[in-house]
Amino acid sequence: MKKIKKVLAGVLAGAMALSLAGCGGTAASSTASSSEAASASSGAASTGAESATAEYDADVQAIVDRGVLRVGVKNAVIGFGYQDPATGSYTGMEIDIAKKIADTLGVEVEYTAVTAATRTELLDSGDIDCVLATFTITDERKESWDFTTPYYTDHVTVLVETSSGITDLAGLKDKTVGVSSGSTSAKALVQAMIAAGTLPGDGFDPATFDPATWTDGVKFQQYDDYPSISTALSAGQVDAFCVDKSILAVYNTDGRAYIADEFSPQEYGIATKKGSGFSALCETLVTTWLADGTIDGLVATYGLG
Ligand code: GLU
Repeated sequence: MKKIKKVLAGVLAGAMALSLAGCGGTAASSTASSSEAASASSGAASTGAESATAEYDADVQAIVDRGVLRVGVKNAVIGFGYQDPATGSYTGMEIDIAKKIADTLGVEVEYTAVTAATRTELLDSGDIDCVLATFTITDERKESWDFTTPYYTDHVTVLVETSSGITDLAGLKDKTVGVSSGSTSAKALVQAMIAAGTLPGDGFDPATFDPATWTDGVKFQQYDDYPSISTALSAGQVDAFCVDKSILAVYNTDGRAYIADEFSPQEYGIATKKGSGFSALCETLVTTWLADGTIDGLVATYGLG
């Protein structure tokens, strides 16, 4: 019990110090120094009590000893995780949350660009400590990884070429839709088409649904990354591109439009190794930052409200 109290004291003191130091900053490079914030954190902690000697679980202590928090982030989702191709620097709400976690631990942060297909492998292999990459919390995924309380909720929608004449879910009947491997998108679309009465839904079982074999009223092509789906849409290899609206935004160029429907709320959480001490720490931080307005501030900073 004492150990938990000491760790929480440190975390909360750190979170307070960081919110005093301001939270709207962005990491200017893939490895951002956090020495200023770390000293602010320990300064605040020394007035509070015990956090300068905080005892962490072994996996958290390993991050502290390494001096670097490794975080899997998106690199093409504006407002969440975006890497400037010219400078290499990352910006976005998820980038800032990662930096703030690193600051709380007094370590640097290192961003690794991940996709929906690679993020869990990299977490499982230990190449990254956590995923902050538009990663939707689902019951199925919770069996394999820990997720924090959601820090943002998006919805799924569909992007089309306006010349296709597709404007709604009904227009997707018998079409081929591009989705990312390892994403929630295909299942969400089929469920939405069933709910809208566009598909009968016979034979749909959410537990066994597989985009690769589903052919009943809509078909899917799976890709490893989003630029490939965008290219396939331009080339007419797919009729539509389905994923979370936040991810689609960068591909909504001239001559393209969203269909009218948005569906399937996507709650984004930080994913960590199941049962790890770092899971508990991330949860404490996210709930603290939800309660004190820090997360709302990031939503406003990046125009995501
Ligand atoms: N957020 C959705 C998911 O976790 C879409 C895929 C993605 O994040 O790239 O499956």
